[in-house]
Amino acid sequence: MNTWTSDQPIVSIRDVRKSFGPIEVLKGVSMDIMKGEVICIIGPSGSGKSTLIRCINALNDIQGGSITVEGQEVHDPELDRLQLRKKVGMVFQQYNLFPHKTALENVMMAPVKVLKENKVEVEERARALLKKVRLEGKEHSYPGELSGGQQQRVAIARSLAMRPDVMLFDEVTAALDPETVKEVLVTIKDLAADGMTCILVTHEMGFAREVADHIYFTDKGVIVEHGAPNTFFDNAQDPRTKEFLSQIL
Ligand code: ADP
Ligand code: MG
Repeated sequence: MNTWTSDQPIVSIRDVRKSFGPIEVLKGVSMDIMKGEVICIIGPSGSGKSTLIRCINALNDIQGGSITVEGQEVHDPELDRLQLRKKVGMVFQQYNLFPHKTALENVMMAPVKVLKENKVEVEERARALLKKVRLEGKEHSYPGELSGGQQQRVAIARSLAMRPDVMLFDEVTAALDPETVKEVLVTIKDLAADGMTCILVTHEMGFAREVADHIYFTDKGVIVEHGAPNTFFDNAQDPRTKEFLSQIL
């Protein structure tokens, strides 16, 4: 029986180990995320950030430890994968919208095709979501007619259409033109303000400082240091964190 209540971590990561063949990429990672929190994971390329994110929604399996979402073990082979997909939304660097479908159709697709929900209701929700990501008026545009930032916001709306409780963002602004980065960050900020639990991998340090409740710094598959943004950015202790911040800030 699942006895999870919202005063317990909504996502709990305990001593997670992940290997690809002989190479251990996550070497015992733990973090707890409370409902409504915004967590930023930062760290050098190859440190295992994407792997960790992908373990949270079971796109990657794990070799040790546990990950629970709302008290349910994500890596339990008995777990209903569709339930997990509904609960945990994910947006990647590559938005991969369907090029021959409009923005509205892209957002409606999964609830209609996968969840078999009522099309009229889904359309209403999809329109509201496009408005929420500030794309009102673009419902009938095709991805090729939208900027990178607009496409990424369609991808966010598409993910929200499944009504997730937790959103994962893996470097969603990394491939965007600088002028469209901000509009995507504003969208995520809006979501966070609405109380969505967000776990982000990002190199946007200004955003992390302003919006995150907690920052984790990873290096070579371990969490080196973590803390509240001001403490983390102004008073990093570990030499690896200091070196990383000195390069990026
Ligand atoms: P980050 O997102 O921090 O840049 P990743 O999680 O993508 O790091 O990668 C961590 C390490 O795992 C890297 O050494 C990468 O080459 C390796 N890795 C990631 N995915 C795979 C895979 N599917 N097969 C083999 N190795 C992988
Ligand atoms: Mg990555």
